[in-house]
Amino acid sequence: SGKPPVVSIRNLTKVYGNGFKALKGVDLDIREGEILALLGPNGAGKTTMISIVCGLVNPSGGQVTVGGHDVVRDFRATRSMIGLVPQELTTDQFETVINTVTFSRGLHGKGKNPALIEQILKDLSLWEKRDNMLRELSGGMKRRVLIAKALAHEPRILFLDEPTAGVDVTLRRDMWQVVEKLRATGVTIILTTHYIEEAEEIADRVGVINAGELLLIEDKTTLMKKLGAKQLRLELT
Ligand code: ATP
Repeated sequence: SGKPPVVSIRNLTKVYGNGFKALKGVDLDIREGEILALLGPNGAGKTTMISIVCGLVNPSGGQVTVGGHDVVRDFRATRSMIGLVPQELTTDQFETVINTVTFSRGLHGKGKNPALIEQILKDLSLWEKRDNMLRELSGGMKRRVLIAKALAHEPRILFLDEPTAGVDVTLRRDMWQVVEKLRATGVTIILTTHYIEEAEEIADRVGVINAGELLLIEDKTTLMKKLGAKQLRLELT
């Protein structure tokens, strides 16, 4: 479509302090409202890329814009457009669900909005648990709290860093349902994963990252056709 991309990444490179090249010139446009899965093995550079877009890691070269603003020069503007769901729960385990999510909104400088927080908690099936401490919740519920936290300041874009790494099949399906529900709110979703089935299940587009390079990016149906064809060829030879 003619719409400008919500995130634009141009020739992005990252060389860490020890000389390691984590990103080697990535180009990527993220479309408003899409679910994009970034598929790649451990150490491919997925977290590095997300961290740069979120303004947490400095790029070595190239340019990233979010909503038309440069992530380095205009950090405040871009950060407030983004929700980040990290791999690990780093929140106070003795705090309640509702305080955790409310506090997160405040951190982004947004005014109080109890009705919105209630809606987010209800959408994530956390409302009944609102007065529970995080330490009392199951692993799946804790992951939901991370998502609620990331949504509390009403971001346009949501990054989920390996939302289903190391979780069982039931919880994985559960998370897929949550993502599917979020799509209906119009938020753009980017998730990283090691699992091709996950990309196949929930994404509109799939990008494959390996050793700091975006090897390919395709609409899911096109990619699955190609992979299917390759598999077929393997079977024939
Ligand atoms: P995973 O699936 O394990 O999360 P990833 O695709 O997200 O992997 P990154 O976390 O971006 O990969 O890491 C890419 C590479 O950069 C890895 O080899 C990692 O060891 C290296 N790396 C990450 N952070 C640093 C750092 N601060 N200093 C040096 N090397 C780093």
